Amino acid sequence: MRQSIHLTQTDVLNYRTCPAYAWAMRHRPDIVPPDPEHVLRRDDDERRVESVARRRFPEGVAIDLDDPAEASRATELAIAAGACVLFGASVLTAGGVYARADILHRDAPGADWTLIEVTASTSVDAELRRNITYLRIAFTQAGFSIRRAEVHHLDKRYRRNGHLDLQHLFRADGSVTAWSEEHWSAVESDMESSLRVIRDADQRPACGCRSKTRGRRCPTFNAFHPAFPAGDTVFDLVSINQKRLDEALTRGVVRLADWPSDLKLSPRQRWQVDAVRTGAERVRRDPLRQFLDTVQFPCYFLDYETYQTPVPLFGGVGPYQQVPFQYSVHILHEDGELEHREFLWTESGRSSMRPIAEALRRDIGDDGSVLVWWKGFEGRRNQEMAEAVPDLADFLLGLNTRMVDLMEPVSTGLWVHPDFGGSTSIKKVLPVVAPDLAYDELEIGHGSVATLRWKQCVVDDSPPHGIDPQEAFDHLRAYCRLDTLAMVRIWDHLHALAGVDQRIATLSGVS
Ligand code: SF4
Repeated sequence: MRQSIHLTQTDVLNYRTCPAYAWAMRHRPDIVPPDPEHVLRRDDDERRVESVARRRFPEGVAIDLDDPAEASRATELAIAAGACVLFGASVLTAGGVYARADILHRDAPGADWTLIEVTASTSVDAELRRNITYLRIAFTQAGFSIRRAEVHHLDKRYRRNGHLDLQHLFRADGSVTAWSEEHWSAVESDMESSLRVIRDADQRPACGCRSKTRGRRCPTFNAFHPAFPAGDTVFDLVSINQKRLDEALTRGVVRLADWPSDLKLSPRQRWQVDAVRTGAERVRRDPLRQFLDTVQFPCYFLDYETYQTPVPLFGGVGPYQQVPFQYSVHILHEDGELEHREFLWTESGRSSMRPIAEALRRDIGDDGSVLVWWKGFEGRRNQEMAEAVPDLADFLLGLNTRMVDLMEPVSTGLWVHPDFGGSTSIKKVLPVVAPDLAYDELEIGHGSVATLRWKQCVVDDSPPHGIDPQEAFDHLRAYCRLDTLAMVRIWDHLHALAGVDQRIATLSGVS
């Protein structure tokens, strides 16, 4: 037993994912893959939002020490010196529980305390409620008299208008006070169990995800099960739920090709199973032709890259609103000529919303279809731009009425291919159509990296060491251009599948 290990909020969170994961995070960090990009970004968002929330308490004293014992001691000293608002106040209990509160405050020395947890979320979920209950328990065990608990979360209805209005950016949810009282003993019990698990280095709890859906596995799964079957298994069936998976596994079915005929499947799942069984693509020619007939020339193949921040950077924008900073458009004319236009906003300190709307107005004419991959996303961006740039609203909303979703033949089963694996992602479809157009050969090959790089070069004070903004902008242009060129190639391929002649005169020459 290692008594020196302190319990943290993260340990309990991991324990609730599963005891084996909590144990691995403490004792086998070598088998835990590095956090993916989106987790790193979320952590960064949390830090930024916490620092903005602190501005509402100008008298606050920051503790901000990593070492639990030092942070706890500094908290005691600050309170002894009369501090009534503390940022990062920490306690380390005699029982080995460490807790750090985002904001701890009271009206006057000697009064009871209020615990505040700040979150970059726009709502309060069960995890946050359990977390603040953990804090209440730990601070109470350390001798604090806690009167109230609050979660301060972002208000998704907020729209920035000039300077940040901190009063309206955040909403305080005090209902967690009653919740924490009601669930006190359950959370306390989780804390005790978590502490036992992380303190026993020799006793690894069993990993029980062998029969669970992929979404329920933690990142250590492959390390615990290196020989687990991969490929076309029942675990790979698109949108499979635990009930259906249990039914298949109970009958000893692991390969998708062996799926029992009496076990229900959704249409998309059925297409996937059939494609695995036959190993061949399926094309419904007539409806595919009808779909292609709806498209009018000139065809504008359009794609946006967007960023979103929890704290809006510019006027008219709300928390996590997706704001386009770049687009690429390939324009296919009726005579087969193909041209390319693009726009990338690189100026810091000013919103990209109006410049991008004006550039679109220049590049997209009044006639013809606008082809996108998943129109819900681009359509919503056009609506938001129309609200932010009202003088171009008619044009922007008009793009939506002209929009054709090129994903539709795949999502509605007009074209099914075994290599799609049930997915409708353009990154799964493109290799079937045009293996010569590869995202992994680009410096920037994924939308999340594109957003990160743009923010580093345009929004942040300075890009990280080794990132040259001009080079990064070139890579961003290449990435976005590939997205729309991919759509052109898929468009061309759909015509071939439907048996419709559609010559694109300069396809091979356009990049
Ligand atoms: S894969 Fe599942 S059971 Fe195994 S450690 Fe991760 S969460 Fe726990």
